[in-house]
Amino acid sequence: MGYDVTKVYEQTTTTITTNHLKMVVCDCCKKEFDPEEDIFSIQDMIHIEHLGGYASGYGDGVKVTADFCHICAEKLFGNYLKRTNAW
Ligand SMILES: [Zn+2]
Repeated sequence: MGYDVTKVYEQTTTTITTNHLKMVVCDCCKKEFDPEEDIFSIQDMIHIEHLGGYASGYGDGVKVTADFCHICAEKLFGNYLKRTNAW
């Protein structure tokens, strides 16, 4: 029982545009990190993202973001980072 379905396909060519990560830039020192050469430095970067809610000091609905390399993160707020060993 069931249905016999005959499918007819037509071959088409489609162009797909993708975004390839080319560079990550520290928002403090503006140093550029190439994912092909500096993957460990990029993995060490600290990303901050915060969305201000109602009555936020940043503004209602304002999104605040920043990326810092390891060197700048240590200089800017290293004294405030809580450090634990995850391994
Ligand atoms: Zn930096």
